[in-house]
Amino acid sequence: MFYTEPVVTVLSRPSFTEPSHLPVNWLGESTDGERLAEFAGRLCYMSQRNPANRSTRDYLENIKRQGHGSVLEHANYSLLLEGVSRSLTHELVRHRAGFAYSQLSQRYVDESEANFVVPPAIVGDEALLAAWREQVEGAQRTYVQLVDQLMTRYGWVADRVHRRKMAREAARGVLPNSTETKIVVTGNARAWRTMLELRAGEGAEQEIRRMAVAVLRVLQAEAPAFFCDFEVYQAEDRREAARIGYHKV
Ligand SMILES: Cc1cc2nc3c(=O)[nH]c(=O)nc-3n(C[C@H](O)[C@H](O)[C@H](O)COP(=O)(O)OP(=O)(O)OC[C@H]3O[C@@H](n4cnc5c(N)ncnc54)[C@H](O)[C@@H]3O)c2cc1C
Repeated sequence: MFYTEPVVTVLSRPSFTEPSHLPVNWLGESTDGERLAEFAGRLCYMSQRNPANRSTRDYLENIKRQGHGSVLEHANYSLLLEGVSRSLTHELVRHRAGFAYSQLSQRYVDESEANFVVPPAIVGDEALLAAWREQVEGAQRTYVQLVDQLMTRYGWVADRVHRRKMAREAARGVLPNSTETKIVVTGNARAWRTMLELRAGEGAEQEIRRMAVAVLRVLQAEAPAFFCDFEVYQAEDRREAARIGYHKV
């Protein structure tokens, strides 16, 4: 199977429980993650009465404007990313602050029938696609042969699981950057914002940029107040990018 788009699934979102002894005068629509951040922010000044009569969206807009982004760190969102390449995740996991990752292991998982991700610049050009396919499919055939030969070579290793791991970890050396992988990414809203600012921008590599725009749309639906200052637009290279309103809150 060849992926041409990432698949983004929300695994978890914040659940907010308001303490009965510190009720907030909530105004306007909001989600649990947004309320959690507003509650945390209001606690700092004990302003639960909401003297300025701000809706949650307005309150969080002001937080972003003033760069008080630490209250956004209370709200965590876990996403499952599929249909992304190993080269994409290599770049993604460079984002450290506020993120946790769990990724499919090529040492434990058999890649004989792994899928691949078509690089965006190749999608839609039959000749380029054919050349790329020939290489990735050839690499996968070599991988299968190498695993087989390595299992024979290390036949003296009694533990079959360990032997398979030895074979797969060596054979994966021939698998291309385009090999599909799956990764669970948990990040707080502030961390997601910083990552999306960098990776949805025009300077980012095209596959991670496409993923970042897809993630942005998912998170904008989850918690508009955290992400509504991002604007998705059609860049000069005829692909989508996003620009941020408030840089690195
Ligand atoms: C377009 C683009 C091109 C790139 N090209 C390359 C490349 O050629 N080679 C390469 O190696 N990488 C490259 N990168 C990766 C880049 O260098 C960063 O590693 C990546 O973007 C993560 O950024 P970050 O460290 O700000 O993120 P995070 O690790 O999520 O950190 C977020 C913020 O927290 C603070 N922070 C985090 N850790 C520390 C710390 N230890 N000390 C102090 N402050 C900290 C900083 O303010 C940081 O910006 C590229 C990134 C982009 C977007």
